[in-house]
Amino acid sequence: MSSALDTLRRDFGGDVIEPGGAAYESAGRTRLAPGRPAHVLRPGSVGDVQAGVRFAASTGLVLSVRGGGHGFAGFGTNDGGVVIDLSKLADVEIIDSERHLVRIGGGATWGQVAAALTPHGLAISSGDTKSVGVGGLTLTGGIGWKVRKHGLALDHVASAEVVTANGEVMHASAAENPELFWAIRGGGGNFGIVTAFDFAAHPTTDVFFGKIAFPAPEAATVIQGWADYLRTAPDELTSTADVANPLRGPEAPVEIHVAFDGDDPELAAQAIDPIRRLGTVTLDDIALQPYADTLANGTLPPPGLQVALRSAFAGQESVSAVLQILAEVRASERSPFISVRSLGGAVSRVPDDATAYAHRQAELMFVTTSAGPKPVVEAARPALEAIWARLAPHVSGAYANFLSSATAGDIAAIYPTATYERLVAVKRQYDPGNLFARNHNIRLQ
Ligand SMILES: Cc1cc2nc3c(=O)[nH]c(=O)nc-3n(C[C@H](O)[C@H](O)[C@H](O)COP(=O)(O)OP(=O)(O)OC[C@H]3O[C@@H](n4cnc5c(N)ncnc54)[C@H](O)[C@@H]3O)c2cc1C
Repeated sequence: MSSALDTLRRDFGGDVIEPGGAAYESAGRTRLAPGRPAHVLRPGSVGDVQAGVRFAASTGLVLSVRGGGHGFAGFGTNDGGVVIDLSKLADVEIIDSERHLVRIGGGATWGQVAAALTPHGLAISSGDTKSVGVGGLTLTGGIGWKVRKHGLALDHVASAEVVTANGEVMHASAAENPELFWAIRGGGGNFGIVTAFDFAAHPTTDVFFGKIAFPAPEAATVIQGWADYLRTAPDELTSTADVANPLRGPEAPVEIHVAFDGDDPELAAQAIDPIRRLGTVTLDDIALQPYADTLANGTLPPPGLQVALRSAFAGQESVSAVLQILAEVRASERSPFISVRSLGGAVSRVPDDATAYAHRQAELMFVTTSAGPKPVVEAARPALEAIWARLAPHVSGAYANFLSSATAGDIAAIYPTATYERLVAVKRQYDPGNLFARNHNIRLQ
């Protein structure tokens, strides 16, 4: 170990943070998970990332890779191992203004991206929160306020620079190492550390954004009508329904969040009015605003609170049955937070096997969230299991970015068999020793 540390000190120019140092308490943990790693490495260059990877490989210690630190499963830290924290690799640079190509460091956040692109009238379809990392979100999907018009964040990756398990720098694109390129668009951090992404951004105007609320007794009809309407709504309209909020119980209103990707008020009204007509509107705060302002600052629980997240998808044939169950659940006293995100549009027009994200034909994604002190989350588990047992016949898959667990069942839900087998072949080539194991892991056995 001491010779590995000597080599690290010689080759690594970034910060090395170890227990006892002033920065350690905040550097050890992620935004959602506690951790007591032995070494937190903050590389300042690609060469530093290479040195960090070689150090972790030579010590045999568990390795965590951290982008924005928002992963629900807490993979971005560990106990006793090495964390490579990419937060200093956060440059955002327009490298080709005609093609809107943007190079983004693997540790940047979406807030940093929005701040850099907004003055140029550009955006990248991403998520809904500024502090979320580009790395974690993109490598697994990226479902945000432009998803129906522009697709997943990973659909806009043109190429990536990847440090693989042996410390080499590889380039991945349609032309170079295409299987690696396929795998990092959906297969998460299994194949190496992405030090930079080149994204094809798109021009953006201001957008119409806000929420429309309906009273609790109308919940069942509103969410069914909302899902029916989305089937024919223009792609410019992306929408999320907050179906249940345990802080307010069965009386919580149903809140439909709406993002219309355009600044024409007539087109926006045509797209949004059918939602307004679904019931008795008790609140409507939709307004024209810069796209960057639609991204939330992100409310994260204080340290010590647990967040249990679970997700699944449904195709057209199952949507009605699922929403019927959710309407019953929300009326009970033991509901978790439930939100439903619209998909379809541009996501579904990419061929299923073009990337390792495999759920392109789903109409909706369902997410349940339980949060609180550990005993409270544990006590709520049986009720949650009962809800998911009811949903099981009607839903499929799982979205890795909205999962706080990583069981064998979770992995099978994220990756259908054909996707998994292809990912295994890529893993065998680029990380046969499974150095990158702190993720929804592709195993070789
Ligand atoms: C408040 C909040 C809001 C969210 N909203 C959305 C949303 O609207 N849409 C959506 O799709 N998701 C959303 N998410 C989920 C989010 O996409 C995941 O939590 C994602 O993993 C966060 O990425 P990160 O880089 O911040 O996290 P981290 O914890 O740093 O990373 C998670 C894992 O990703 C891998 N990883 C990260 N960066 C790299 C890299 N550069 N190279 C290699 N591997 C890497 C590592 O395995 C790492 O352990 C949200 C999460 C939170 C907490």
